[in-house]
Amino acid sequence: MIYKRSSALFSEAERVIPGGVNSPVRAFKGVGGTPIFVKEAKGAYLFDEDGNTLIDYINSWGPMILGHAYEPVVNAVIEKAKKGTSFGMPTEIETKIAELAVSMVPHIDKIRFVNSGTEACMSAVRLARGFTKKDKIVKFSGCYHGHSDSFLIQAGSGASTFGVPNSPGVTQGTAKDTLLAKYNDIENVKALIASNTDEIACIIIEPVAGNMGCIPPKDDFLKKLRTLCDAHNILLIFDEVMTGFRLAKGGAQELFDVKADIVCFGKVIGGGLPVGAFAARHEIMDYLAPIGPVYQAGTLSGNPLAMAAGLAMLTELNTDAEIFNRLEEKTSYLHKGMAKVLNDNNVVHTINRVGSMISVHFAEDAVIDFDTAANGNNDTFKAFFHGMLQQGIYIAPSAFETWFIADALSYKDLDKTISAVNHVAKSL
Ligand code: PMP
Repeated sequence: MIYKRSSALFSEAERVIPGGVNSPVRAFKGVGGTPIFVKEAKGAYLFDEDGNTLIDYINSWGPMILGHAYEPVVNAVIEKAKKGTSFGMPTEIETKIAELAVSMVPHIDKIRFVNSGTEACMSAVRLARGFTKKDKIVKFSGCYHGHSDSFLIQAGSGASTFGVPNSPGVTQGTAKDTLLAKYNDIENVKALIASNTDEIACIIIEPVAGNMGCIPPKDDFLKKLRTLCDAHNILLIFDEVMTGFRLAKGGAQELFDVKADIVCFGKVIGGGLPVGAFAARHEIMDYLAPIGPVYQAGTLSGNPLAMAAGLAMLTELNTDAEIFNRLEEKTSYLHKGMAKVLNDNNVVHTINRVGSMISVHFAEDAVIDFDTAANGNNDTFKAFFHGMLQQGIYIAPSAFETWFIADALSYKDLDKTISAVNHVAKSL
């Protein structure tokens, strides 16, 4: 495959955009080479500026669960755009999507829409602090909750790919209120709570971690967190920016049968437009302005185009009774196929998967937290990434990311992917 035009476009971009990209994970910094410039996409495929066709396993980092340019979503946006793109006034469609989201997700009564996952998590933490009147938060190493200051303490995703666990610009004052725990280690959380009695407002967690590769919660880890939170008047925040409307209609709360106090959304809920949201029971949500004291706002929040895309997407997911089973089956097929060819070629690896989130770590031991994820062989990952790209398969340019399976992928695409893994595995 030739990436001449992408390389030229990247050089032009680098002159006027820091690092040539508007979000660091898009750069190929972790794996080397220059990013691919996409021209358009349809279903499971990306068409780049050089005329290459790629099977897409990133899917805009999660939102495109049904595939690219999904017609009902595109049409909803086009029709809305003709009627005006922003008013800064209430619109009926905001209530429609709120009603649908509240009906699909357990344990939430009200939802507020924002413009990104970052905003959702940042606002959820402010709300938790206001509601509990406590300052400290617990986050897990390797979990990413957006780029708001309090979260850039051992964050996963791009922050791990680039080895910048603590970003300059985050003050010591902010950092001191973020307590770090080890994912899947309940004793560690207990110890943090014991040494910060009555100071912790919330525990925020990715119920399935997706920013250090895919890492499932162990046994009853989430249930045990719930019990701890109840015992210590701490709010449990599920960051379902990746898992929401992906693992099940009701997300991880439904899949694992664990109740969260506040749930954050992004990605799928916006159908590919910039949308985030956070939701909780009445009592907590009514603590928000304009009826409550915790301030939170947004000029473009609830934007009509974004709401139209989100409503069309959620409607599809709500009416297709088989969608989550289908996604699970496709991902499981890929899982088994990749494991077989990697084993046949004696490549040391660990594949983790929950529903339609899956990742391959080139690590011998089980990958259960940030440390075990970081044990993976990065040189092997780089060779794997570039090998797959040459075979026309686009996966995330970092081992600290999950792959997102879209329903648009056919079994033919999956077979093609498995043969590409087989081919690449021979040279690893
Ligand atoms: N939380 C999680 C779990 C995420 O994966 C992300 C983004 N990948 C965010 C929050 C932040 O979302 P956004 O990039 O839309 O700000």
